[in-house]
Amino acid sequence: MTKTPVALTLNAGSSSLKFALYDISGAPVELASGLVDAIGAAPRLKADFGAAAPALKRDLTAAEARDHVSALSTALSELRQRFPDAKASVVGHRVVHGGPVYSEPVAITAQVLEELRRLSPFAPIHQPHNLAGVEAAMAAFPDALQVACFDTAFHRSHPKVNDIFALPREYYDKGVRRYGFHGLSYDYISGELKRLAPLVHDGRVIVAHLGNGASMCGMIGGRSIASTMGFTALDGLPMGTRTGQIDPGVIFYLVQQEGMSIDEVRQLFYSKSGLLGMSGLSNDMRTLEAAGTVEANEAIDYFVFRIRRELGGLAAALGGLDALVFCGGIGENSRLIRERVCEGMGWIGLELDRERNARNDTLISTEMSRARVLVVPTNEELVIARAGKRLLDAAA
Ligand code: ADP
Repeated sequence: MTKTPVALTLNAGSSSLKFALYDISGAPVELASGLVDAIGAAPRLKADFGAAAPALKRDLTAAEARDHVSALSTALSELRQRFPDAKASVVGHRVVHGGPVYSEPVAITAQVLEELRRLSPFAPIHQPHNLAGVEAAMAAFPDALQVACFDTAFHRSHPKVNDIFALPREYYDKGVRRYGFHGLSYDYISGELKRLAPLVHDGRVIVAHLGNGASMCGMIGGRSIASTMGFTALDGLPMGTRTGQIDPGVIFYLVQQEGMSIDEVRQLFYSKSGLLGMSGLSNDMRTLEAAGTVEANEAIDYFVFRIRRELGGLAAALGGLDALVFCGGIGENSRLIRERVCEGMGWIGLELDRERNARNDTLISTEMSRARVLVVPTNEELVIARAGKRLLDAAA
């Protein structure tokens, strides 16, 4: 019996492994998705198998997810039980950094893997874990095509002026550039706009990807022109636990006057700041919306204020605005945040329809609004699965 060709997608974080399985006999169709988290601590597995089997949620033993290799093998054994006829022909990986070179997904050879390792200092918190996922998958599927899909790639189209910092030139040559991230999400949204609203796609669009990580991207004709994240995924909007844009002088102050080490500052900026740090309560927007404390409200105020500021800045970079698109957990679900972002934005041509917004419609602007406001659920895994299939077909 011939086996069904499938693509496995992997997104390996510091202590988590997200996976999804796609039937790629035709255009990719999702069969299953899941997550192993708290790897190396008190690991858990959550998985959804669509119509094939009931969803699964269970605590794992330490041995079942000691590291990424064992976590992958545990997830795979659950998948194999439910999809015995599937054959993984391609494994697609989310890799945060493609450096200045990669503007497209790439088949991973030993040489590519080595180049990606050399980029680790640019994203020390993410890249080594992404590559641990690649190595685990290479061991598990020695015959499958391994494909890397980069968060930075989508932004390689931005003009040079959005690629540089005001530093002496030698640093640019060393790779200190404005890369931008969340590219898989923006790529997906760009494709969806082309399908749903081709005229909007061809125009000037700002996409607000508002999740635990958050950024915004200005596009023209579906290509990135400017984004709020820079050299690292720390810049731009405040996030669940990250500062977003901050005066670099604060770092000098914390180190020189407060006696903090660089690692402590890094930990502060990446893991203890943002919504969590400001509210003193949670990094979760749902919790903050429900809390009603002064600190939670201030955290929400600052989040909204920075989105509005970046909206104005990106619109200037695009020379105007034809549409604003919300995506990510907060963008797709929080009508409060969407309403507050769009409040009083008539000057830029945005008029929100409160009822459409409350219903979570796709189009949430009024008929009179010059620029459209849309809610489009993002799907980074599907972008990876499509790239995997494309490269697999090309290799054949
Ligand atoms: P990640 O960046 O980790 O993929 P998500 O895109 O899933 O994160 O977004 C997580 C965020 O979305 C959390 O702050 C969560 O509170 C928020 N969120 C999810 N649903 C809602 C909702 N109904 N209202 C407000 N915020 C929500």
